[in-house]
Amino acid sequence: MLFIVTLTAVGATQYAELASFFRNFRAVKHLALPVSPVIAGVSLAAKSVKAQVPHEFHVLASDATRQQSTGRPKLLVLVVGETARADHFQLNGYPRSTNPLLSKLPVVSFRQVSSCGTATAHSVPCMFSVMTRDNYDESTAKTSSNVLDILQATGVAASWFDNNSGCKGVCDRIPSEFLFQQPDPRCKDGQCLDDVLLDALARALKSRTGSDRIIVLHQLGSHGPEYFKRSAGQDKVFGPECQDKQLQLCDRNEIVNAYDNSIIATDRLLASIISQLQQQEDYNAAMLYLSDHGESLGENGVYLHGLPYFMAPAEQTHIPLIWWMSNGYQAMTKLNADCMAQSHSKPLSHDHLFHSLLGAFGVQTGLYQKSLDLFSSCKAAD
Ligand SMILES: [Zn+2]
Repeated sequence: MLFIVTLTAVGATQYAELASFFRNFRAVKHLALPVSPVIAGVSLAAKSVKAQVPHEFHVLASDATRQQSTGRPKLLVLVVGETARADHFQLNGYPRSTNPLLSKLPVVSFRQVSSCGTATAHSVPCMFSVMTRDNYDESTAKTSSNVLDILQATGVAASWFDNNSGCKGVCDRIPSEFLFQQPDPRCKDGQCLDDVLLDALARALKSRTGSDRIIVLHQLGSHGPEYFKRSAGQDKVFGPECQDKQLQLCDRNEIVNAYDNSIIATDRLLASIISQLQQQEDYNAAMLYLSDHGESLGENGVYLHGLPYFMAPAEQTHIPLIWWMSNGYQAMTKLNADCMAQSHSKPLSHDHLFHSLLGAFGVQTGLYQKSLDLFSSCKAAD
């Protein structure tokens, strides 16, 4: 017991400074901890036992029903961000101009939003699952319906375009495209600028579905440690930028410059999506953006993300969430724009995504919880 406590304490104090180093050299991480081979052995044994037992897939919300919108169908573009921390958004009070475009648009930026986890592989499946941060379980998430499955089952046309490293199982049962696998001058070594998502959206919107629709765009966003690779051209506003993978070797201002340029790139991406949706005549459109987790940029010697939640600093868990809707969407859903704007300080989390998407598409099921639907308090009664 004492051994575990000591090991944890040493790990906790040293992890901060070593996080950046370890992420670059994953193999070293396993060599550094003497208990690692034992844990790895147990983990491998557990995995091979699991692999032999076929998992039954659990269909959730089989009672779900939904009324198709009358008139123009509804379109929600959901942008899943990467590594964006809330306090570096000008919309949330950051003193630098990191939202030059969104700050001129009628968006609502929710300021008190927390993530489910501190890493993509945890947060992404969690936010789409009915489970909350308190009871989230990875294997249960993999073997049961997520909110996109439920929407699709009720006749919503769902699709996923990925410019990250995959959808972590969330898009397994819906049409999806992995853009980073395609040849494009904006891609290098399997990573592309998020602009490729704009082309994908434009392409997708050319094919009409006739039904209500959700399109998920999964960004590379501010993925580190090479923040400078996440922006180009006009988005490179702040300089000089850190260009070293070992962030601790850079001046902190250079790290922040490179990171903030990636937020500017995200600002332009979101503003361009809104511009595409404003020109939409086939749908009443809206956009919801939220990040998967935040990022440490050297505060107290901590870099990147992925710390266990109980000890993770707010920089890794405090995330941006931004909402925009067209006049047509507002009229058809009776969602009160003033009410939405006034609720920007309402505490929200990834737990709200599942129920908010069900609410946005008017899905009726016993699984739906109104208290976790971020739109519910701003909808006028029918
Ligand atoms: Zn992530």
